[in-house]
Amino acid sequence: MIHTILKETFGYAAFRPLQQEAIESVMDGKDVLLVLPTGGGKSICFQIPALAKPGLSLVISPLIALMNDQVLALKENGIEAYSLHSNIDYDEKIRISNAIEAGDAKLIYMSPEGLLNEKMMSYISSKDINLIAVDEAHCVSMWGNDFRPDYVKLSSLKTHFPDVPIMAVTATADKATQQDIVTTLQMKGAQQYVGSFERENITITALPGLKRMQQILAFLADRPGESGIIYCTSRKSTQQLADKLNAEGIDAACYHAGLDSQIREQVHQDFIYDRTKVVCATIAFGMGIDKSNIRFVIHYNLSKNIESYYQEIGRAGRDGSEAEALLFFSYADISQLKRFIDDSAAEDTYKQVQHAKLDRMWEFSNTAHCRTNIILSYFNEYKSEGCGHCDNCLNPPETFDGTQYTQMALSGVYRAQERITSNILIDILRGSSKQEIMMNDYHRLKTYGVGRELPYPDWRSYLTQIIHQGILSIDYSDGGRLKLTPLSHEVLFESRQVNLVKFVWQDKKAKPAKAAVTVNREDVDKDLFVELRSLRTRLANEQGVPAYVIFPNKTLEELAAVKPQTKVAFSQINGVGKLKLEKYADDFIQKIKEYEGA
Ligand code: ADP
Ligand code: MG
Ligand code: ZN
Repeated sequence: MIHTILKETFGYAAFRPLQQEAIESVMDGKDVLLVLPTGGGKSICFQIPALAKPGLSLVISPLIALMNDQVLALKENGIEAYSLHSNIDYDEKIRISNAIEAGDAKLIYMSPEGLLNEKMMSYISSKDINLIAVDEAHCVSMWGNDFRPDYVKLSSLKTHFPDVPIMAVTATADKATQQDIVTTLQMKGAQQYVGSFERENITITALPGLKRMQQILAFLADRPGESGIIYCTSRKSTQQLADKLNAEGIDAACYHAGLDSQIREQVHQDFIYDRTKVVCATIAFGMGIDKSNIRFVIHYNLSKNIESYYQEIGRAGRDGSEAEALLFFSYADISQLKRFIDDSAAEDTYKQVQHAKLDRMWEFSNTAHCRTNIILSYFNEYKSEGCGHCDNCLNPPETFDGTQYTQMALSGVYRAQERITSNILIDILRGSSKQEIMMNDYHRLKTYGVGRELPYPDWRSYLTQIIHQGILSIDYSDGGRLKLTPLSHEVLFESRQVNLVKFVWQDKKAKPAKAAVTVNREDVDKDLFVELRSLRTRLANEQGVPAYVIFPNKTLEELAAVKPQTKVAFSQINGVGKLKLEKYADDFIQKIKEYEGA
């Protein structure tokens, strides 16, 4: 039964990890906590039981945007789903209550406050409720970024519906949060399924924050017309970056909490409907972004911790197709983030934790090891093999004996009496004639110009590594000036060797080539893909739905590889259920035939 629904209604051939286990448990009437990464396919784990069981399922969701997105996708697959919230009009309310009364409605999406008010409760308790799903269940946790006080009130669900199974799902729950969810929702003897946090389709790259604009333009030029988010720390920089991109002919908008809510809504909608390709945003552009075809997330600035970073890049590639995460990191960023923590009104113990988390983020940025494994170990998942989809795995960094360079840097710091920042140090080593150098007589130092052979970015990278190895330190309480450490002494006087990772510019690095999950990248006919994509855009515009609701990119890729010319062949493609077969197969097959004939 559940396999039939998977194939016929949703058009998928097989379950993904843990889906079947979770579905079978709720079918057995058990409470379930399901933790799967973003894009892991949590929704169908409550949608399939909702269809398989007699009665009505309730889905609790924190944001109207999330409800609407899922309901739209369900309706596309011919399922009677509704979202019931304060923004719907009277007519829609009547339609919903009629559908419930007639027993046609299968899923109703609501906010916690929408469900828990007295009137709604007395109405809904009289109905045959077969399942309550709590989406984004980590919102119950007071320690997380997405805490919602209304979610805590969901603790009364078990009082109102003692016999109805609860399925709580989330992508971002460490052990403590998982426990919080189970306790708050009073899930007794809950089955817990925790999948891997790994997002195999996201390629992670981290680069020193040098010439960021230039690097971003090169990145975007390689990916014309693709959707993405660029996160910045400050509101002002989102605006500036969007302006610059627009000036370069890139279709970009900015988004932050200081904008009028109407404008924010517009930017959001334009992004969802592919009218705007790139959004430059602060992290206020967050949880409601359930758009499945985001191809990249760029961090213009360092994130404050690994949780936030992973949640932010997790917005890319929900459709399972290849996606990219590009992080820029710099000392300026880390100093600023440290200042934010120090200046906050929080207690000292809290500040210490924040500093420690920031340090992990910094280590992550600077590592020569597998980046995915660092993230996974942060979430208590340990793997020995490299992931194969991060920059360090794809282009294993080349190391060399950097003792001489290190000694140059150390002697520069020493001779300048530990009064210089890393920028000045590089200027000294490279023999710059900047005013600041001349005014301080740094051009008379013995180290002046000894490192001329290395370009600025290379020095920047090596200094970062030297600092990271504890051979120099940055004194944030002294304007970020560089200080010698006990290890400096060993390098200068005790012939300690220092290995450094060779610096390579991003555009010189080989392009990661990775097979897509269902079809080989090489098999995808690019021109046909473009044709199919524009057909999809036309259909989406005609129906007023976002393009990815019709078919995700992954389905288009498979179509452009397999090129089905009959309905039977078309129905075998992942993502093609019965209804979509009826609605779209003819148009797409015709396009494929035209293309093949041409
Ligand atoms: P999340 O876990 O982030 O809530 P979703 O439920 O939104 O993920 O699913 C992400 C994408 O994966 C959707 O496009 C969904 O239709 C697709 N998907 C879910 N289950 C499967 C499956 N078994 N096979 C193929 N695609 C699936
Ligand atoms: Mg989801
Ligand atoms: Zn890796």
